[in-house]
Amino acid sequence: MGDQLIRESSGKIYLTLFYLSLLLNIFFLCQHFFFLPPSRLDSTVSVLRWTRRAAEEAEAVAAISCSGHGHAYVDGVLDNGWPTCECNTCYAGADCSVLLSNCSADVESGDPLFLEPYWMSHASESAVVFSGWHRMSYDTTNKFQSVELEKHIRFLHAAVGNAITRDKYLVFGSGSTQLVNALVYALSPENASSAASVVATPPYYGLYKVQTELFNGREYEWKGVTSKWTNSNKTNFIEFVTSPNNPDCLLYDSVLDHSSVIYDHAYYWPHFTAIPAPVDGDVMIFTISKVSGHASSRFGWAFIKDENVYKKVLQYMQLNSMGMSRDTQLRMLKIVKVMLANIGGDGDIFKFGFDKLRKRWQRLQALVNSSSRFSLQQLSPQYCTYFEKIRDPSPAYAWLKCENEEDVDCAEVLTKGGILSRGGDIFEASKRYTRLSLLKTDDYFEMLLQKLKPLLASSKENPDKISSF
Ligand code: PMP
Repeated sequence: MGDQLIRESSGKIYLTLFYLSLLLNIFFLCQHFFFLPPSRLDSTVSVLRWTRRAAEEAEAVAAISCSGHGHAYVDGVLDNGWPTCECNTCYAGADCSVLLSNCSADVESGDPLFLEPYWMSHASESAVVFSGWHRMSYDTTNKFQSVELEKHIRFLHAAVGNAITRDKYLVFGSGSTQLVNALVYALSPENASSAASVVATPPYYGLYKVQTELFNGREYEWKGVTSKWTNSNKTNFIEFVTSPNNPDCLLYDSVLDHSSVIYDHAYYWPHFTAIPAPVDGDVMIFTISKVSGHASSRFGWAFIKDENVYKKVLQYMQLNSMGMSRDTQLRMLKIVKVMLANIGGDGDIFKFGFDKLRKRWQRLQALVNSSSRFSLQQLSPQYCTYFEKIRDPSPAYAWLKCENEEDVDCAEVLTKGGILSRGGDIFEASKRYTRLSLLKTDDYFEMLLQKLKPLLASSKENPDKISSF
């Protein structure tokens, strides 16, 4: 009896110890899963606490159907408490399913929406979660700029092989638009007897002129086209060189001797051009708008060789905006990481962008070449160090010329035919030219081809030739 009592009570003790150890294990497992050091996040499943509501909202809004011709956004205009669809230009209706008749193909702007499908197919990799208290301070780890973002931008250039960034300072801006003026300011000599002359070679990106003129002053002035100054003994030039160029997408170099050059390499990425070699200018601008397509984030960066120029740009940033939005920097870090992680694989953004734009260019070229009414800029296949092969052209823009003598204003000719383009005069070139953006969504591109066909048919040639495009 006594023995049995002892056996029973020791059995209870073992059972209690067993349950205790079970409880302890559960406790340690909870510790392990709920209070993770950041490096462990990837390798385990965690229970969502304060992110769940935001995540559910983001997914519910993303699931609203806009028929593939628009999107609903979390911050969109509400109807019955839900964001409404924002439709592409020629579509309407609550779900963007109605194709408007008599709608113009709007290919005026360089809105890089051709990359939207890429990000939709990388949705889970590229989503970003912000806490309500994320970096509220004016200062970030390194004053205004995220150290990790700087590092990853340099990694991206190294991985793509499009720029040498070693021994160069890196400054972020609210789009390269802000950096354009910061650099003109920083490169203008202080206390010089005359203002620096800011110039570019047509056709050039129109912002250089209008922005410089807006701020024309004691230290710098817009002085027009480079050809006016090639034989001048004037000094203090600041020359914009856009390569590949907007609008004709050709690779260019500076024209004037001894000018300070601002190289705008917005399009020096494998989506848009072959990369024959990494660029290595003393002052180079890039923008996320044309790499990942996130134009709305307003994020650009400049590499600067000279320390004094760099310090002046920093001073400009301090006085102008106190640096670039820290929220944007967080999102950009994620976007750059995703692009980097997919390089060389099935999800390579540069391959995606190149394939898309090459196909568009080939279709447009075939259509335009079927008649003599218009012509396009001449682009040839070129060896690309990124793809390690000779690759076809895949330009961001078509630089269209009206060949008929009477078509002196090409943009106007197109407008009458239902195509909105950007006329040559905006690039200080002849009005016989106009720029067509190939960067928007498929809707816009398809509409462009559709509207172009009847214009080609009204050329002197046989209209049957173009019916197959
Ligand atoms: N440079 C060039 C050549 C551009 O085409 C553009 C945009 N179209 C910019 C700069 C401005 O880009 P961001 O969006 O960075 O201001």
